[in-house]
Amino acid sequence: MTEATARRIHPAGDPLRRALELLGDQWTLLILQSLFLRFRRYEELRLRLRISPTALSGRLRDMVAAGMLDKTPYRDSGRTRQEYRLTERGLELWPLFISIWAWEREWVQGRRDVLPSLRHVDCGQDTEAPLGCATCVLPVNARDVVSRRLDTKGAAGATTSKRFRRKDADFLSADPLMFFPDTMELLGDRWATGVVVSAMLGARHFSEFERELGIGPGVLSDRLTRLVDVDVLCTTTATTRTDAHAYRLTPKGRAFFPALAFIAEWAREFEVEGQKPDIMLDHVVCGQRLRPILLCEHCGKALDRDRIVFSHVPSPDRATQPT
Ligand SMILES: [Zn+2]
Ligand SMILES: [Zn+2]
Repeated sequence: MTEATARRIHPAGDPLRRALELLGDQWTLLILQSLFLRFRRYEELRLRLRISPTALSGRLRDMVAAGMLDKTPYRDSGRTRQEYRLTERGLELWPLFISIWAWEREWVQGRRDVLPSLRHVDCGQDTEAPLGCATCVLPVNARDVVSRRLDTKGAAGATTSKRFRRKDADFLSADPLMFFPDTMELLGDRWATGVVVSAMLGARHFSEFERELGIGPGVLSDRLTRLVDVDVLCTTTATTRTDAHAYRLTPKGRAFFPALAFIAEWAREFEVEGQKPDIMLDHVVCGQRLRPILLCEHCGKALDRDRIVFSHVPSPDRATQPT
């Protein structure tokens, strides 16, 4: 195999980069969340998110192409319209959304009062859905995990960044389930996500982030400032380096680890045969590769998608749309 062929089949950092390019976009996350809440029709999505038809169609097309959604026609008033359903690949993202919910409730001011609680049907208790390891079924803390980067060419980097402007989403804040302000600072922008992933993998200094991500200094500086503003990173003064500051994850930043672990796991499906993952996460307690799951802290069981219920969720209003 020539080197060029090998590169085409095993592009550097491809699986995680592909996952971040898909998921590191606010509209995509909001569309996915809406689909989990069973808003499936094009018009329902458009009205719920007040998204432009161009943006909605583009995101849906990308998600269908990535195998996350299926498009099914249905008849409405004699016309054929489209309905979107999550495929298995799309449904696999449910723990990511539960992690986001849990993190926002725990770490973002005022969110606990407005977000619904989650009940584990098996034991009947409200659960915070902590991260667990599928091998030993024990709770996992970010500190119990050793991360190894296998791709050195900037696995977390992204080629482009479609930044979602805050003002586009002001109206969303009226619905607490619809807008995750701090999460979107981390995940709604690929560069920001890249900075957080690099920080989890040990980057501390401006030049390290720059090198790892291949990011321009202006963009990096902007994302670092934003992440400090939302208390995901903090600065410490470095004494021996030429860089003025070192950046560290705060407890709030480290607590975002479960969401990133689920993204890294989901990205593995994008690996082609024989390709090594960009990042390896090992659970030091059992010595195995971390396969992330969610646990119930009361009964200790692994949570299943069909065995959890939120206390209240909106449902699509079909009053004006005959089924
Ligand atoms: Zn384990
Ligand atoms: Zn339970």
